[in-house]
Amino acid sequence: MNVTNKPKTILVTGGAGFLGSNLIDFLLQKGNHVIGVDSFETGSPKNVQHLDNHPQFTLVNHNIQYPFQELEEIDQIYNLACPASPTQYQKSPVKTLRTCFLGTENLLEIAKSRGIRILHTSTSEVYGDPQVHPQPETYWGNVNPFGPRACYDEGKRVAESLCYAYREQFGVDIRIARIFNTYGPRMGAGDGRVVSSFIAAALAGRDVCITGDGTATRSFQFVTDCIEGLYTLMNSDYREGPVNIGNDVETSIQALAERIVDLVANSTGKEKVNITHQPRLVDDPSVRKPQITLAKAKLGWAPVVPLDFGLQKTIEWHMHQT
Ligand code: NAD
Repeated sequence: MNVTNKPKTILVTGGAGFLGSNLIDFLLQKGNHVIGVDSFETGSPKNVQHLDNHPQFTLVNHNIQYPFQELEEIDQIYNLACPASPTQYQKSPVKTLRTCFLGTENLLEIAKSRGIRILHTSTSEVYGDPQVHPQPETYWGNVNPFGPRACYDEGKRVAESLCYAYREQFGVDIRIARIFNTYGPRMGAGDGRVVSSFIAAALAGRDVCITGDGTATRSFQFVTDCIEGLYTLMNSDYREGPVNIGNDVETSIQALAERIVDLVANSTGKEKVNITHQPRLVDDPSVRKPQITLAKAKLGWAPVVPLDFGLQKTIEWHMHQT
């Protein structure tokens, strides 16, 4: 591990999104100068509004599918720009693929021409509906290239391949984080991801609706753990390949729904809402759990936030939204 505290100028794409805005707060707190880039496809300037007058922060409206016209001196790039929720990335699958390929290529070109490090955020979705459980980085995955999730899953896979190619052909200094389901404040109620959808429904007094029978599993990571993992990976010497950044406590969707219904009822003092079921979505993975031995060994990183604590924080954030 080689985490440096020397202030830097850092480019964060997807800076107005859920993870990007949390990462920007973290980097600014460490004394860095941050340039947030976003096309506001799924993110919102509201997520970084509290930084409006921050002397170390600049927000740039730019679509990474197009090359940057001008850019000041930078030391590092975090590439987070990409819609991450199935409802969002399926709205325009071609755009999603272009963001993954052309967007990543434009950033790799900057890293190449300036000789700087780039961390690309990949995803557990590169493992598809996994036949190996839990998923180590060495598993090649089980992805349908011709289905509704393909624009994201294959987009993220080709982006990894592009990072590999730029490293092999041009010596670009890359880091790849395969992020597993992450939740927390600033993941919007209408975003369509499971934690925020369940919390939003329960707070509104609506039924919590599970797609499938509830036996599918995911491993939920709180946002602060994820940000710490991305930062540690970026500043580590480990450049051999992708690293899983996720929580390895596996939870069924049914158990998650029940926990959220209980916590929301306790927080609001209202009656518990019902849990209902709808048919399973096409290509929805049945299990998902990271093997994080690599991150522990090479980065000295492991998640620390328990699910109940993270859910409570997320519920409180939703309760304070207007
Ligand atoms: P998000 O949708 O909240 O944020 C993505 C941001 O990227 C948004 O602000 C959006 O407007 C912006 N964006 C999209 N396309 C763009 C483009 N072409 N040019 C510029 N900006 C663009 O999603 P998130 O959860 O914050 O995810 C951030 C990154 O982490 C994504 O790359 C995602 O694939 C990855 N990831 C997230 C999770 C998770 O659980 N949150 C899991 C795995 C991987």
